[in-house]
Amino acid sequence: MSVNPEYALTPEQAQERLNELALSGESCLFWVPNAKHEHFLKQLDKPSWLPGEKSIHIIRANNRGGKSVMATMIAGFLAEPYPNDWLMKSKFLREFRRPNRGRIYTTANAAETTYQDHTKEWLPRGRYRTKKRGAFDAKFRFPATKSSFDIFTFDRDPMAGESTHLDWAMVDEPLPQKHWSALVSRLTFGGPIFFFFTALEGAGWINTDIESEKRIGKDVFVTQMCAEDCCIEHGVRGHLPHAYIESLKQEFDEDELVARLDGAYLSLAGAVYKKFGQEHIKTAMTPIGLNVSPRGSITL
Ligand SMILES: [Zn+2]
Repeated sequence: MSVNPEYALTPEQAQERLNELALSGESCLFWVPNAKHEHFLKQLDKPSWLPGEKSIHIIRANNRGGKSVMATMIAGFLAEPYPNDWLMKSKFLREFRRPNRGRIYTTANAAETTYQDHTKEWLPRGRYRTKKRGAFDAKFRFPATKSSFDIFTFDRDPMAGESTHLDWAMVDEPLPQKHWSALVSRLTFGGPIFFFFTALEGAGWINTDIESEKRIGKDVFVTQMCAEDCCIEHGVRGHLPHAYIESLKQEFDEDELVARLDGAYLSLAGAVYKKFGQEHIKTAMTPIGLNVSPRGSITL
């Protein structure tokens, strides 16, 4: 990506802005990624950008993997850098063109709950202004850099605000496919598209259409994170107690464990066949390759 020097922060300007915040005790200064978050961040520096190019950065993650916090951190940093050591390491994030306009696509529920909490907790206070849409803050403007981002919920018409140009887009939770072409068309001058999701139902098209073998490592970069990557005892810089991870195994539907704990796709492991239960099997023979779970659902 070409960086317009007029808008990019020089190292001196960045340092100056950082110093302003350094003693403020803001949460964003102290955010620490686990090893998989770090891997995801490192991959941002991989693409060799040309004007107009897009790249797609995916982190498929377990539930409670801290992905929405990382999304909030990156969104805030792209709008206006702040002195978090881990984000500052990324040349891509540091030198991203500013001012810029971004968008977070997510569920209405996450916009009202998760993002209300995370933006208050993790964006540097006093650096931005908000504008509400219904029950939640939908737009965040950063006067110092003239950058902004908004939160766009999956239940909206994909064509709403069609003319809005974006420099980056972020998707938290599996994006309904109907939004994809409108999202891509908004990145007029190219830019990154970030995906953060647990690959539950509705994510299959991302696997087949985006994570294709020929694209991975070229314009698509994938990090898969599992619950143990987030484990305080067994992960690197994890935040979840091991006992808690173990308890989740009891709590979740076993058909969904592969997505909710391992960050893998459900597509071939239950979702497709979930509607078929024991009653659909007419003979005593279970078809080869299918397992019938105690709850009656079938997985490959
Ligand atoms: Zn563990």
